[in-house]
Amino acid sequence: MRLTHPLWRARPLVLAIMATIGAAGLVLYFQYRAIATLESQTQVIVQQFSEQAASEIAAELHRALAGPVLDTMTAVSQPDLRAGRFDLVAEEYTKALAAYPHVDRFLAWSTGTEVNTPGEVLFFGRDGRFARDAALGHAIFDLARKHAPAQHIFIAAEDVGPAKQQVLLRVFWNDAKRLDYFAVLGLIVDPRTSPARLFEPPRLARIDALLARRTGEPPLRLRVIDERGALVYGTADAGTISARLAFPMLFYPADEIQARMSGSAQTRPWQIEVGSPELAGAMSGMSQSYWPTLVSVALMLVALGLTVQAHRRSAELAEMQTDFVAHVSHQLKTPLSLLSAATETLQMDRVRSPEKLSEYLDTIHAEAGRLSNLVQRVLEFSRMQQDRRYEFEHVDFGALTRETVDAFAHGLAGQFTFTVDIEGPGPYVHVDPAAIEQALANLLDNAVKYSDTIKEITVRVRSDHHNATVEIIDRGVGVAAADHDRIFDRFYRASTALHRPGFGLGLAIVRELVQVHGGRVDMTSVPGLGSTFRISLPLSTATAVSAASPPIESPEAVS
Ligand code: ADP
Repeated sequence: MRLTHPLWRARPLVLAIMATIGAAGLVLYFQYRAIATLESQTQVIVQQFSEQAASEIAAELHRALAGPVLDTMTAVSQPDLRAGRFDLVAEEYTKALAAYPHVDRFLAWSTGTEVNTPGEVLFFGRDGRFARDAALGHAIFDLARKHAPAQHIFIAAEDVGPAKQQVLLRVFWNDAKRLDYFAVLGLIVDPRTSPARLFEPPRLARIDALLARRTGEPPLRLRVIDERGALVYGTADAGTISARLAFPMLFYPADEIQARMSGSAQTRPWQIEVGSPELAGAMSGMSQSYWPTLVSVALMLVALGLTVQAHRRSAELAEMQTDFVAHVSHQLKTPLSLLSAATETLQMDRVRSPEKLSEYLDTIHAEAGRLSNLVQRVLEFSRMQQDRRYEFEHVDFGALTRETVDAFAHGLAGQFTFTVDIEGPGPYVHVDPAAIEQALANLLDNAVKYSDTIKEITVRVRSDHHNATVEIIDRGVGVAAADHDRIFDRFYRASTALHRPGFGLGLAIVRELVQVHGGRVDMTSVPGLGSTFRISLPLSTATAVSAASPPIESPEAVS
């Protein structure tokens, strides 16, 4: 297989397409993998944080429940208590009520209080004073008495008094034998209000700190549910729950004092739940990070499409150039062989009559002219390829068109009828006159070349507020609709042009020249009836322009 075979040439392109699509697929796949891994890692990290926060919150609650029992009730020394220092007790109670909002009231009894309020304990509330609450006071005194024979340090009870409260007592014995006690301290917890108050300041700040994870990240959310499934703390919607911890709720620290305690209370199975509302949001955020990749893949595909198009274009161009070279060689061959034959005949002195001589000289002249035309067009084209310099002037477009048509018509006198329709003077344009002349000449040349039996050409100049327009109208072979878009391309020749000389460069040159002047060229045509080629140029913005040429009468016919 030769390397120039089209299939072989197309293969790098097919490989490029496959490689691009493959690369796009790989990028998407690896991003998908990376995001999936990130998602699961994020989930694991959030879960670990949540579990840690849940157990730290459980410990915090436990501390809150243990503090008033283990610290406050042992803060005052036995000798001070025996000496009746209730002022010290009041001090500790005041501190504890501030630190532990879930404690409703503290209480105290001693042999000293027994003198004034026999058979009942006194209560210390947030008003900072010891006060009586006869019914509850008697009930608690009875409770202490009832449990005294068990000789324990702590007594726990539920449903005490008319308000059915929870009570924890600390008994201070006279001696090691625990036969008699001289003081009782204790606390009251209201089962209706205390659970929620566990989450009040100052504890709340510590719980919030535990939920805050790391700075800059949204905090975790806490939800505490009681034994009946009711919400004790937090919002119903805690987001995605990442950790659940069972919390055995008891209003005193059972583990620490159970062995030294009589009486009992029921443990309530609470649940601590920690969730992250942003977890779901973060996940969807991660999915959104596909967008930039998708956009870049789309851009890659667009670039690929453009490359394919450019490749097709350049293949077409290469083909056209090959045609061009073949065409030029062919066009050069005929005049050259005619020239060579004529000169050879002359050289060999074979011409017999003066008429024959003049015939040969005419042939030489005509073929030399044709050759020079071809060379000129090729030169024009190659000039267009380099950077051509333009010299812009304010020009009377009507006069310039008339002069060009006159010069062109001169050589065709008697063969073609040229009608020039110009409403002069003007319009005025800012152009390089030589370039515009060249564009007009190319269109006139085509009008002549592609005329058939009716050899009439009309040139019309008009203007509106913005543009000057010239139309070159012939009644020749016309251009098929399928060729309209392409005849301005370099080297393109419609099928109707095949028996006429040319290289498919004239219109490409016209378009280039007109575009340099900020104008445009287009055409309309009816095959078999003729074509109209139209150049529009922007009007000159100069206010005062003197018309170089005298006023033009119109319409006028030159032949
Ligand atoms: P060339 O005339 O050398 O082939 P051009 O670029 O001037 O190249 O024209 C390109 C093609 O457009 C021509 O080959 C012809 O098919 C078509 N064409 C141009 N002008 C006319 C016209 N006035 N009437 C019909 N066809 C035309």
